[in-house]
Amino acid sequence: MGSYAKIDEEAFVLPVLERLPAADLVHLRGMPLKRLETYVVEHGQKAFRARQLFAWIQERGARSFEEMTDLSKSLRQFLSTEAALSAIAPKGAHHSPDGTVKLTFDLHDGAVVESVVIPADGRVTLCVSSQVGCAMGCQFCRTATMGFVRNLSSSEIVDQVAWAKQIWESHTGSHLSNIVFMGMGEPLRNYDNVVEALQVLLDPIGLNLSKRRITVSTSGVVPILERFGGEELDVNIAISLNATTDAVRDELMPVNQKWNLAELLGALRRYPLKPNRRITFEYVMLAGVNDSDNDAKRLVKLLHGLPSKVNLIPWNPFAGARFERPDRAQIVHFKERLLAANVNVTIRESRGTEELAACGQLGEPSKAAAWREQHRDSRRRGLEQG
Ligand code: SAH
Ligand code: SF4
Repeated sequence: MGSYAKIDEEAFVLPVLERLPAADLVHLRGMPLKRLETYVVEHGQKAFRARQLFAWIQERGARSFEEMTDLSKSLRQFLSTEAALSAIAPKGAHHSPDGTVKLTFDLHDGAVVESVVIPADGRVTLCVSSQVGCAMGCQFCRTATMGFVRNLSSSEIVDQVAWAKQIWESHTGSHLSNIVFMGMGEPLRNYDNVVEALQVLLDPIGLNLSKRRITVSTSGVVPILERFGGEELDVNIAISLNATTDAVRDELMPVNQKWNLAELLGALRRYPLKPNRRITFEYVMLAGVNDSDNDAKRLVKLLHGLPSKVNLIPWNPFAGARFERPDRAQIVHFKERLLAANVNVTIRESRGTEELAACGQLGEPSKAAAWREQHRDSRRRGLEQG
């Protein structure tokens, strides 16, 4: 595990928004520059104002129109009645002993969305959500138990980054370096909003994040993945593979019944990967389900010839789930089988488990509280038993 600044929980004060912007305001946080230009021109302003406005919103992280002193007073006044800078409001910060922080945000309609800051190995990764809940129904995933609630707007996605950046950087002095779309939801099922959010995140006068440091993870919605490859956004893609046979993957991930392993791998072989880039394969390890030597063998075969790296993710438990995490030795053994076949593989150390902040554990906060209670109890029992 890498080193990172220890955060004083008491000092982790969240910014307070006076009120959440109403849904009928125009949300600017996730508007790419092009769309912002159309918006200001439609309202009788010169196009270059959009650039100024964009820089205030993205580069300088403005939270009020008043601070945009190089814009005319009348424009600022107009914007403050018509538009909003904050699409979501910070609600809570839940710290895990390993340094992971789960941030929760209120949305204007009462829904809650979560993002996780994961400091490790010299990087600070933010895991963002793209939907409230998820419709994909993966059996091992806690988010799936919520069902699908709604898509997040591009502003609600970008604002997770903007708030996390402000909160994290003001408390630790270190910068967010990587963004992964691995929180709640299937990003490719919220295509337009995710693409707009990416355009804002990548814009040099926006958040100016490097393509190489942004990863969009998908369960494998094949036709949409092909369309995504045509966007020339050139961000990294990660595929939640999780099984090596259609029979097992059909069970674990209903999406496989629509686009099976052959179709998924076929699309990935055709994917317009830039030189020196690899596709990440996430493989949640489930004891007795997908962790055998034969699975390792089949995995090697499936990935043959693809520039890839495999991330083994020991399954993170949640209340009511029917799986078990393999023991450590089995995970290491599986990894070694892959290494022996020259597969680039790492074990993603599970982080944030205690606060349900780990990947695949995001879900309704009320349930998170119950889980915390239960988790504490079982830990205590474990300690009592020595
Ligand atoms: N919907 C997208 C992105 C969010 S899920 C996708 O499925 O790719 C992010 C990752 O968490 C996926 O790779 C998924 O396989 C993994 N995951 C889901 N539930 C998990 C759990 N309980 N433990 C560990 N990883 C899990
Ligand atoms: Fe949705 Fe991803 Fe969870 Fe599957 S693993 S239910 S696609 S969030």
